[in-house]
Amino acid sequence: MVQMKKRTKSETRRRRSHHALKAKVLVKCPQCGQLILPHTACSFCGTYKGKPVGQIKGAKTKTAKKASKKEAPTAKPEVKDKGKIKNKVK
Ligand SMILES: [Zn+2]
Repeated sequence: MVQMKKRTKSETRRRRSHHALKAKVLVKCPQCGQLILPHTACSFCGTYKGKPVGQIKGAKTKTAKKASKKEAPTAKPEVKDKGKIKNKVK
């Protein structure tokens, strides 16, 4: 692709005048005090305006994800054991 016309410094700078990032507005959660986006449920304690709203998707911390992964392989053998016990009862 060929450049049609040289862009002047002025045009480039005018275009880039809108590229600056604005700081996000954060408010304190009334329940746990963590900084969260306004008008959203708190992903740390699962509440909105201090009232519980259930489990929030993606609210798990890094340590929680690691723990759940470790638990998953151990859960499968337990199910197999239950099946064996049922067979013995029959
Ligand atoms: Zn909270």
